[in-house]
Amino acid sequence: MATVDVERATRRAFPSPTAPAVSIVVPVFNEEANLEELIRRLQATLDARGIRYEILLVDDGSRDASLELMRGFAERDDRIVAIELQRNFGQHAAILAGFEVCRGHVVVTLDADLQNPPEEIPKLLDKVAEGFDVVGGWREARQDSAFRRGCSKIINRLTSRMVGVDLRDYGCMLRAYTRPIIDRLKGGDERSTFIPALATLYTKRVVEIPVAHHERTDGPSRYSLGRLIQLQFDLVTAFSPSPLKVVSFSGAVMAVLGLAFAVFLGIRRLIVGPEVEGVFTLFAILFFFVGVQLLAIGILGEYVARIYGQVLNRPRFLIRSVSGRDEEGER
Ligand code: UDP
Ligand code: MG
Repeated sequence: MATVDVERATRRAFPSPTAPAVSIVVPVFNEEANLEELIRRLQATLDARGIRYEILLVDDGSRDASLELMRGFAERDDRIVAIELQRNFGQHAAILAGFEVCRGHVVVTLDADLQNPPEEIPKLLDKVAEGFDVVGGWREARQDSAFRRGCSKIINRLTSRMVGVDLRDYGCMLRAYTRPIIDRLKGGDERSTFIPALATLYTKRVVEIPVAHHERTDGPSRYSLGRLIQLQFDLVTAFSPSPLKVVSFSGAVMAVLGLAFAVFLGIRRLIVGPEVEGVFTLFAILFFFVGVQLLAIGILGEYVARIYGQVLNRPRFLIRSVSGRDEEGER
């Protein structure tokens, strides 16, 4: 593998003498079983490349020993910072909290569960050094359930259409961003926090490279099906009004069909005379219409709820403590 001097390449663009070249931001939610190996492999990879780095572990309201472990790491190694959030805010919010504290010229995000192998990070950094602002990984041979892979495929295609940037894998969190993108992501007070999609709005220099993906070794995903659906809804509503358009379009089609059916029944009445058969067909049609109407109201509600959330403007995350960063390191 050709080595590229990331630090030099990035410092040229963003001259700040004290900041590390690379910040690694890792959201952590009940990951006590993985942290030790994660840190070991991260440091081995980065040290081998001679990269100046900091690792920011963001505890997203874990209920296991993750936070204590993280604090221990931060105490022993001044390149590791442990950030504690007030409660569980969700993966993307936790990453944003990490962005708030990190200082690197380039910021890499990855999951704590070792599904994203840390050994792939240099590949991303090489692409940054080539001049890309957003480098995404796409999971080659993804090790998740077939159901999730299927859903993801559809969702990635939809997202690409809506965001207007064609990416294979919006869900992969092994990604690298340059400082201007991070600052923009921090600055916006958008409620939607689907970071990979947001980032593509701020630059044209986006690239995707294949990365390995491993199975989660300790228990189930930290996401429930409900939260996955919620996340996808956030993504869709934040980037496109198209669900509303689909609903109004199908409403129009149905109105036309309903009218045609009424005309048909009227003519039949004149030709065949009164008849009672077909009442249940009408019921079926009615139920269908009622269902579509409820769906339409529901979709409208999703948007209204998000507007409400934006108006309330509650913080997306709250940092309770930061350990492992000394005063002069503070910005
Ligand atoms: N995570 C988090 N907050 C949450 C859920 C997950 O910070 O509320 C973290 C989790 O610790 C992991 C990453 O987000 O580092 C991805 O979570 P997970 O592996 O469970 O998701 P999946 O790989 O199934 O998409
Ligand atoms: Mg995972």
